[in-house]
Amino acid sequence: MENLISLVNRLQRACTALGDHGDESALPTLWDALPSIAVVGGQSSGKSSVLESVVGKDFLPRGSGIVTRRPLVLQLHRLDEGREYAEFAHLPRKRFTDFAAVRKEIADETDRETGRSKQISTVPIYLSIYSPNVVNLTLIDLPGLTKVAVEGQPDSIVHDIENMVRSYIEKPNCIILAISPANQDLATSDAIKISREVDPKGERTFGVLTKIDLMDKGTDAVDMLEGRSYKLQFPWIGVVNRSQADINKSVDMIAARRREREYFSSTPEYKHLAHRMGSEHLGKVLSKHLESVIKSRIPGLQSLINKTIIELETELSRLGKPIATDAGGKLYMIMEICRIFDQIFKEHLDGKRPGGDKVYNVFDNQLPAALKRLQFDKQLAMENVRKLITEADGYQPHLIAPEQGYRRLIESTLVTIKGPAEASVDAVHAILKDLVHKSISETSELKQYPSLRVEVANAACESLDRMRDESKKATLQLVEMECSYLTVDFFRKLPQDIEKGGNPTHSIFDRYNDSYLRRIGSNVLSYVHMVVGTLRNSIPKSVVYCQVREAKRSLLDHFFAELGKKEGKQLGTLLDEDPAIMQRRISLAKRLELYRAAQSEIDTVAWSK
Ligand code: GDP
Ligand code: MG
Repeated sequence: MENLISLVNRLQRACTALGDHGDESALPTLWDALPSIAVVGGQSSGKSSVLESVVGKDFLPRGSGIVTRRPLVLQLHRLDEGREYAEFAHLPRKRFTDFAAVRKEIADETDRETGRSKQISTVPIYLSIYSPNVVNLTLIDLPGLTKVAVEGQPDSIVHDIENMVRSYIEKPNCIILAISPANQDLATSDAIKISREVDPKGERTFGVLTKIDLMDKGTDAVDMLEGRSYKLQFPWIGVVNRSQADINKSVDMIAARRREREYFSSTPEYKHLAHRMGSEHLGKVLSKHLESVIKSRIPGLQSLINKTIIELETELSRLGKPIATDAGGKLYMIMEICRIFDQIFKEHLDGKRPGGDKVYNVFDNQLPAALKRLQFDKQLAMENVRKLITEADGYQPHLIAPEQGYRRLIESTLVTIKGPAEASVDAVHAILKDLVHKSISETSELKQYPSLRVEVANAACESLDRMRDESKKATLQLVEMECSYLTVDFFRKLPQDIEKGGNPTHSIFDRYNDSYLRRIGSNVLSYVHMVVGTLRNSIPKSVVYCQVREAKRSLLDHFFAELGKKEGKQLGTLLDEDPAIMQRRISLAKRLELYRAAQSEIDTVAWSK
């Protein structure tokens, strides 16, 4: 039992330390899942007195008017032995052994938040008491409900307090200690009114009747205590706290408790109820109830914790790894991200991801189609052949074969292949660039760092530009090579005019006749076709060699070389993560740690049941 409640205390304290009060956060919080006990009632109904006597200590600021202006979350921890002491969450490691000082600190801490006004604040003060004289309990003292605003308070205070109280007790796991003074009509009790609102069936409301000793002569609280005036699920508990006169005389708690016991056992009207009356009994009842509530909640609590842990882990992994602080770590991280990008880019080319096939399409369709469009036959039409042959002959017409003419015709035709060759280079370049952009957006690690993303994209595109220039040079060279040296065999195999029975006594004029020129044209055309056949195969090889293979091999080499020269600070600007994300990651990690700790603690308790 004690394990159970001290577990709750530990978890609850951890939640408060993280500012996890169950409001603004989107995640379900532990605070929501754990039971607590809140004390509600009108001003001066005796809330602080009841709390004090449950605790067995004088430590709460008391007085007439509005004293409690912030919620006080009070955790009682039972010590097996040793001196009792108190600790505030806002003053960690400071142990209070003087409870008058605790009372002063509560008042001072209230003022720190609200100023010395009569304003209220919803931010709780968190106080733990460790003592051999208490049972394990978590109690929340709330500002008293009031009917009218007093001087220095805004008119809204009546509703403000009501709303704050409601915000605590409307949680289904809040056990309500409804304090009503016996010397007032229960029908007018603020405590009953607000608790009935949030717990109509009275399933989690404990009715506590104070000031029984102050009732008018001739009246008694038996009807109320036996539940005939207002029925609650749990029996009413009557208490007799110290009066103002007792307080003024500094009557101590032990004496007060003894007197309370005597009061119930010796007053004839209450004798038969004495075993279930008084502050001590109240403390035991509460502790027992709390235990059974927590036990019933453990499975739900476990699944809530597990679910939250999964959610936190998912979000954390979505946010990515935190940035390393040292230059080496940063460099490693950048390289690692670049490696992932590079891998994705290669997968596009190698077919694991789509897009690489477009390169083949250039070679298989675009290039042949462009070559076809060159229309060599038109370039080698007779008139053109005649013109070039004549020009090449100069003043001296050729004697046997028009050597120079052939060369000019072939060169002038082959040169036009440069167009389609360059176009292939450009087409593949465009495809590679497109794949770079695709790969960039598919590298989720890069999303986190906008600057790095831009730099990597730029570096990759610059590399591709360089490769395109190289590729152009190499591909055009292929064409130029064809122009600069003709395949000798081809011409050797050509049937010679003379051998073919041509008339060697043709006049010079005959050297330019139509059928002769047509033959030259057709010879050149078939030579050109042969060369085109070769180039159709070698241009793709050159393009792949210079661009595709090179991109796979060294796309980011230049970037890496530059990276190596950068200082830690410059590397940091590349990893300029959104500060909000950084903050979010830290707070998620903190929260995850809390939930993990909570998980292992609650698992231990669940197994030891
Ligand atoms: P709170 O405003 O609800 O926290 O009420 P307090 O605990 O400060 O009590 C208000 C006043 O009522 C104090 O002067 C207490 O001494 C007095 N009082 C509270 N309970 C009892 C009681 O059971 N009997 C008597 N005689 N006086 C009480
Ligand atoms: Mg009070």
